[in-house]
Amino acid sequence: MYRNAKNVGYTMIGKGSLDQLGDVLNPQRKKVDGPAIVFIDHYFKGGALAARLPLESRDIVIYVDTTDEPTTESVDGYADRAKAALAGRTATALLAFGGGSTMDTCKCVGNLLTNPGKAEDYQGWELVRNPAPYKIAVPTLSGTGSESSRTGIVCNEAKNLKLGMNSDFTMFDQVILDCDLTASVPRNQYFYTGIDTYMHCFESISGSYRNAVVDALADKAMSMCKEVFLSGDMMSEPNREKMMIASYLGGMAAGFVGTVHPVSAGLSMVLHMPHGIANCYALAVQEDIYPDEHREFTAMIEKQGIDLPKGICDGLTDAQYDALYEASIVHEKPLTNRLGPDFRKIFTKENVIGRFRRM
Ligand code: ZN
Repeated sequence: MYRNAKNVGYTMIGKGSLDQLGDVLNPQRKKVDGPAIVFIDHYFKGGALAARLPLESRDIVIYVDTTDEPTTESVDGYADRAKAALAGRTATALLAFGGGSTMDTCKCVGNLLTNPGKAEDYQGWELVRNPAPYKIAVPTLSGTGSESSRTGIVCNEAKNLKLGMNSDFTMFDQVILDCDLTASVPRNQYFYTGIDTYMHCFESISGSYRNAVVDALADKAMSMCKEVFLSGDMMSEPNREKMMIASYLGGMAAGFVGTVHPVSAGLSMVLHMPHGIANCYALAVQEDIYPDEHREFTAMIEKQGIDLPKGICDGLTDAQYDALYEASIVHEKPLTNRLGPDFRKIFTKENVIGRFRRM
């Protein structure tokens, strides 16, 4: 079976490109007469970002609380708010300003505006039936690749399951990459999020499910990440632009991850740890599975002076360790991708819990 791969329709790249948002939004306003719904990371509340956007008085601004990762509950809540504010009108476009959590919230709400039911009904592959409204992503944090990927990740607390809405309809139609927007990101957060690209790409490229385009994108994105994180200043202007492009390429390359993301998902589900830093802890205890990448990652952390304090699982109960194991081992496809169909013989319960204990 050959995959028919979809990509983002339009991409604008460059410092200050946010100023051209009106040029890409106005044609949509002519096509659909309704308000735009703007999702903005709550970090920007009260700041200058919303004020400089080409918004009309009827547009709907929703600040997204990104303290925790998106959940089926939070996405349902934002979808209800959006529907109530629309009051029967059709949205002309959905816009997202933020990192992975804000972009994923926007993507998932988009699906729920045109498809019946709740977020959990669409966790999985090819479950979305109707196209979402036109969506524009403006990342203010680089690394998750949400701007160019076909998934919107949500945590389902009741099912202890972190799984995305994987669909062509989840993808953004337009992306604007303006490196001015990542200038004020705290250094640790910039690293934790940026390194997600590196992880997606090496997990994909060292797996057994491969394709030539994904390999080429992953290879390029990885070398860009290395240039950024092994340089003197990962946040210089050229490096911030490079990181934005690496994230974009990495999002397109995202398909099948390996063993870092399942362990990371366990940390996010059970300890509510944000995705980027959870990946860092997950890789830090997989020196046997990814020796080269582990070495490179350690060099990057040292070079950039990034904090990764030990002892995050100290004092957890047996039930919590069990939950960490369960929320990791459930990701059979990625685990098989790296370890083969007998992954349970390597990733035994004892083995996996032993890794959590070392974090
Ligand atoms: Zn990731």
